Amino acid sequence: MSNKPMIASVWLGGCAGCHMSLLDIDERLLALLELADIGATPITDFKLGGFPQADVGLVEGAVCNTDNIRFLEEIREKSKFLVSFGDCAGWGCVPFMRNFFPLEQVMERGYIFTPSTVDGFIPDDEELPRQLEKVQPIRKFVPVDFHIPGCPPNADTIFYVVSELVQGRVPDSIPQPLLHFD
Ligand code: SF4
Repeated sequence: MSNKPMIASVWLGGCAGCHMSLLDIDERLLALLELADIGATPITDFKLGGFPQADVGLVEGAVCNTDNIRFLEEIREKSKFLVSFGDCAGWGCVPFMRNFFPLEQVMERGYIFTPSTVDGFIPDDEELPRQLEKVQPIRKFVPVDFHIPGCPPNADTIFYVVSELVQGRVPDSIPQPLLHFD
């Protein structure tokens, strides 16, 4: 194990787009690896050994179910600095749209009434996480230290913020030229 700072990440109720944007930092990933180790993330495999103690924890996605809460609390507990990574984590974004409908209606739509479904049913097993009545941003459950905006955040912004954090510098803000999302 090196003495470099550790980065860990998780995605909750999100589409993986924020992590795809993390991969879009391309060859700068190597520069980041000079500065820090990347522990458990969805782009490695966190089934093996769970989350490490991390200096920077990145959370993609909103909180939609009980498993999301469990992962979120674990990464919060193990991260010195927790970043809400993208707009789903920050305010709900796409998954938040289900909040306009009762949960029962959402579940029926997903498992029974989609056109391709035959003999659909809503799965119910104690092994499965429970859906929350309403999708929530992560700050409703744990303290958050920094927010990277965007759906997804652009790769330049991610590289800037994460490389600053692993060098012990907390950006006062995100420079204006990095605040574009297209
Ligand atoms: S913020 Fe956008 S890109 Fe990121 S997980 Fe949510 S929907 Fe996907």
